Amino acid sequence: MTKKLFWEDPYLTQIETRITSLKENDITVEQTIFYALSGGQESDSGMIGNCRVLRARKEGKEIVYTLEDGHGLKPGDPVRMKIDWERRYRLMRLHFAAEIILELVYRNLDSIKKIGAHIAQDKARIDFEWDANISKVFPVIKKEALEIIEANREIISAFSDEENEERYWEIREFSRVPCGGTHLRKTGEIGEIELKRKNIGKGKERIEIYVSETSMLV
Ligand SMILES: [Zn+2]
Repeated sequence: MTKKLFWEDPYLTQIETRITSLKENDITVEQTIFYALSGGQESDSGMIGNCRVLRARKEGKEIVYTLEDGHGLKPGDPVRMKIDWERRYRLMRLHFAAEIILELVYRNLDSIKKIGAHIAQDKARIDFEWDANISKVFPVIKKEALEIIEANREIISAFSDEENEERYWEIREFSRVPCGGTHLRKTGEIGEIELKRKNIGKGKERIEIYVSETSMLV
C-alpha cells in the first residue's frame, strides 16, 4: 500500500520513493505526494523519475500512475517524484475556498442541497439544487468568508478513521467536515476570492469560485 504523504504534509513538492509494482506503463510506488482525482479535486501533474505522469487514478486505497512510454523502470527502482507545485497550491487554495463557501451556503440557505463540485486549477465550482438566484446571498457569504480568511485561522486536517482512510478538516469554533483532499495550513493562504453565479438548468444553481494570483500572505 502506497504511503500517502500528501496527507501528512501537503506542502511536499518532491520526494525519493521506490517502484513497488509495474505493469507496462502503470506503476505503484512506496510513498507518494502525487494526489489522484478524488472528492472533486483534480489530480496533480508531475514527474516520476524522468517520466511525465500521464494519469493518476485511485484503485481502492491504492494509487496507480500511468507513465509515458519508454520509462525503462523496474520494480524496486528508486525514483524521484516531483509535483507541479504551482498547480497543486492553486488547487489547495481553490479547494479550501470552496470548502468555506459551501459551509457558509449551508448556513445561509436552509435546506439547500449540493449536487456536485469540482476543483480545477483556474476555478472551483459547486452545484446546488435551488429554485432562486443564488447570487442574492453572495454579499453576505463573501463578507463572512473574508472574515475567516483575514483572521488566518488554523486548519486542522487529520484522520477520523485511519484504517479506512477517512479524513476531515476542522477550523475550531467554525466547522468540522469529512474530506480526503489536500488542505492548507491557514485560511489566510486562500487570498482574495471572487464568486460568480451560473444558472445550469431549471432549479439548479452553480457557484464558481476564483482566487487571486497569489495569496495575501505570500
Ligand atoms: Zn476538502
